[in-house]
Amino acid sequence: MEKRFAGRLALVTGGAQGIGAGIAERFAEGGARIAICDIDADAARRTAERIGAAHGVEATGYRCDVSDRAQVEAMVDAITAAAGGVDVLVNNAGVTRDNLIHKMTDDDWDSVIDIHLKGSFLCIRAVQRGMVSRKYGRIVSLSSTSALGNRGQANYSAAKAGLQGMTRTLALELGPYGITVNAVAPGFIDTEMTRKSAERRGLDPDAYRAERAAAIPVRRVGVPRDVANLVCFLASDEASFVSGQIVYISGGPETRR
Ligand code: NAD
Repeated sequence: MEKRFAGRLALVTGGAQGIGAGIAERFAEGGARIAICDIDADAARRTAERIGAAHGVEATGYRCDVSDRAQVEAMVDAITAAAGGVDVLVNNAGVTRDNLIHKMTDDDWDSVIDIHLKGSFLCIRAVQRGMVSRKYGRIVSLSSTSALGNRGQANYSAAKAGLQGMTRTLALELGPYGITVNAVAPGFIDTEMTRKSAERRGLDPDAYRAERAAAIPVRRVGVPRDVANLVCFLASDEASFVSGQIVYISGGPETRR
């Protein structure tokens, strides 16, 4: 396979599992060096080791809570010292804390906004310094079809819609420095996040997945690799004229979940 990311370093936040691990693996297939950060340090290291061994690239796992400025800056400094800097940032780390508005706690709100929205801001601010000085960078953030509205997700949809505005704004600010900034907005992707959310609602994850697939135009749910393929395209040199875009990836036209 063509090594289109040879010489690049890709940092994937929340990359220990799910969509992030799929994205990290796809970059590794393209020859990128990989940095995975996750709040679960052991899982980040295990995933990095597996991907590095499978694809013959350097891959390192870092413990980092993306909502903590000091941890984000220390991690980016460590990657810069060890590997020369971050060429590609994928803002993927996330959690859900679903509740209808009358039951949504301050903590439900703060944790989701802090991890998705502030975490992406902190990571982008930390990596853009090196990208600007090297006049190259690719930033891709994970939005969601929930940005269009989804019952029980006032916190999550606000964070995912906020990421869309931040993406468009930073494309304007960073474009002159050779940096593109885009977001992908997946629909239903089969991961721990969607399985746990089915269980929380008292539903069988397999039955729920089948029900969701029946309502999707291509009649299947997404898998992490579907998202990884799109993220890698947006991070490639072929996409150097694509910036400030929100690309929905949900097996049909953009709709709420
Ligand atoms: P997941 O729960 O499988 O993985 C999320 C990862 O983020 C986990 O490894 C977790 O430990 C890590 N994480 C959580 N909080 C963190 C923090 N503070 N700092 C660092 N890491 C942290 O979820 P997933 O389904 O793979 O989702 C990945 C991204 O894609 C999320 O941003 C999610 O909102 C988005 N997304 C998912 C779907 C879907 O259907 N699965 C749809 C649209 C968007």
